[in-house]
Amino acid sequence: MTTWSEGPTVESIKGIGSETAVQLHAMGIRTVVDLMEYLPYRYDDFRLRDLEEVAHDERVTVEGKVHSEPALMFYGRKKSRLTLRILVGRVLVQAVFFNQPYLKKKINLHDTVTVTGKWDKNRQIITVQSHQLGPHNKQGDFEPVYALKGTIKGNALTKYIRAAFHDFGNLIEEILPNYYLEKYKLSGRLDALYQMHFPDSPQAMKQARRRFVFEEFLLFQLKMQALRKFEREHSHGISQQYDIDKVQSFTDTLPFPLTNAQKRVVNEISADMKSPYRMNRLLQGDVGSGKTVVSAIALYSSVTAGYQGALMVPTEILAEQHADSLSALLEPTGTTVALLTSSVKGKRRALLLEKLKEGEIDILIGTHALIQGDVEFENLGLVVTDEQHRFGVNQRRVLREKGGSPDVLFMTATPIPRTLAITVFGEMDVSIIDEMPAGRKAIETYWAKEDMLTRVLAFMEKELKAGRQAYVICPLIEESDKLDVQNSIDVYNQLSQHFQGRFSVGLMHGRLHPDEKEEVMRSFSRNEVQVLVSTTVVEVGVNVPNATFMLIYDAERFGLSTLHQLRGRVGRGDDQSYCILLADPKTEVGKERMKIMTETNDGFVLSEKDLELRGPGDFFGRKQSGMPEFKVADMIHDYRALEVARDDAATLANSDAFWKDDEYAPLRRYLEDSGILEGEKLD
Ligand code: ADP
Ligand code: MG
Repeated sequence: MTTWSEGPTVESIKGIGSETAVQLHAMGIRTVVDLMEYLPYRYDDFRLRDLEEVAHDERVTVEGKVHSEPALMFYGRKKSRLTLRILVGRVLVQAVFFNQPYLKKKINLHDTVTVTGKWDKNRQIITVQSHQLGPHNKQGDFEPVYALKGTIKGNALTKYIRAAFHDFGNLIEEILPNYYLEKYKLSGRLDALYQMHFPDSPQAMKQARRRFVFEEFLLFQLKMQALRKFEREHSHGISQQYDIDKVQSFTDTLPFPLTNAQKRVVNEISADMKSPYRMNRLLQGDVGSGKTVVSAIALYSSVTAGYQGALMVPTEILAEQHADSLSALLEPTGTTVALLTSSVKGKRRALLLEKLKEGEIDILIGTHALIQGDVEFENLGLVVTDEQHRFGVNQRRVLREKGGSPDVLFMTATPIPRTLAITVFGEMDVSIIDEMPAGRKAIETYWAKEDMLTRVLAFMEKELKAGRQAYVICPLIEESDKLDVQNSIDVYNQLSQHFQGRFSVGLMHGRLHPDEKEEVMRSFSRNEVQVLVSTTVVEVGVNVPNATFMLIYDAERFGLSTLHQLRGRVGRGDDQSYCILLADPKTEVGKERMKIMTETNDGFVLSEKDLELRGPGDFFGRKQSGMPEFKVADMIHDYRALEVARDDAATLANSDAFWKDDEYAPLRRYLEDSGILEGEKLD
């Protein structure tokens, strides 16, 4: 909501002296407008409900006739309990009042009373929190609840707010253009604000809330869209004039036709590369959706335009894999592909850097070694990073600042729910590959209880005997890398013994030296090791197509997105693959998570579900959230409004009228206040 409110301070309201003002300041309320904009964070619902529909432990309000004389009992010092029976409809319930002995005299047999409290469905008892002598009064049906601090009480705050509206309501100005109010049938700002505090009915409150959800989203998205426009126009990118014929004949030589989704994202990326703006694009595509070939096309385009390209990945194993596949794809076109990892040292490294600087290398692939100080390109046109979420914000920035102003494409296999993508990555352009290459065999996923381990191992052995390989993912112990390692060693010992003399078992965990990790991975990819026991370090990008079986211990401890990424290590060849989730979840949510894993292989469906079950704060993990906080809106439940607001904000930010016309002055003022127009960066 607005941050620029100025004008009369709270002391202008009758009844607010300097002491109260200080208390209000602590709540962030300085002016009368602040007061009116101090919204409740929830509403207490005192509407009457049918007890049949109320769940155990829920809060409920009922009206009924007193059916027994109140019985009063004292215990301890000054503590008392008053119980009486009330006939609610045809149900006889017991109402319990604590520490209000005086009620005994006030409540009589056959009186009508209204009570609100927690419903114990099993024992038919209501523990009363508030009551009314007499029938239910509709007026207080719906009461706002405010976050309070210090000595300020809810009743007093309500009184101040009411007075503020009475004396200063005219200060609330409309900031949304009429066009939106009509298009989405939203109430005006003053009216909506008033209804948020003093709703005529739950419907009126909902209607008012709709307006603020849109307002918050629109303002937030405008900020992002303005930033994006600003960055585009002030970033002097390069316009890459790639050779469309060469690029076309390259795609014609691919062993498969591109999927429609791949074609679409290739076009989006090409348009960015050709434009004089600097590309800042996120490419999302589920595991196996074919991002590598998209990046190959983009990198090759850059080469045909006379530039160099770089592909940056999080691990050396991945770098090697990509170097292999890109060389195979691109060398027939005469493109030079080179690999730079930490194991390229001394003379070889010096020579490679020399060639790079001379422009004799077209495409360089590597880990973050790529962005180290002494790596110089002749003319870098495009940087692609794979598995973007593994790179920190800082590495991303260094990358963008690397020589010239190369276009940048971030690729990620973690499907990010749309709502999060357009908020957290709102200043980036997003391309999505939402289609799998034809003919993929879905991985068959099963959920097994832990006492079925013997049968699971027999199943695994069958696959191993058929010449395939297996991953075993170890129990995860939250926040404890050390215990995770211990677990993996235990599982490794058990399985080594179990398969002794028949199959060879390898071990991979985070505490191994990078060289040791490489060695383990290499022997697994050469099939010298048939069973790889691992912690989640194996999660990213690894490609061993002969591995068709995955067993995940304690699967309920992993997030759905992690499980999906892990599962993506199998199903990479032509053979049917299997994933077994070993889990004994205790909660309903836990069971639901296992079930949905067995039901879908669609990463986007899973990530939406994950977001729904875990909430936005946890989705990216605690460290890297960057999640905006909204006062009224809820990113998950109001996601449709978020999408609408995003589109509207994009249209607005790209129109001339928005930057000139009076109608938009209040919205522009918001952007000015947020400092964006001076070039403030979000990250
Ligand atoms: P990811 O998006 O997970 O990086 P990859 O790029 O590794 O996926 O592609 C997975 C596999 O699918 C690779 O073996 C690749 O050659 C193949 N592939 C990519 N695009 C297509 C397509 N359009 N049709 C058939 N196979 C494809
Ligand atoms: Mg990939």
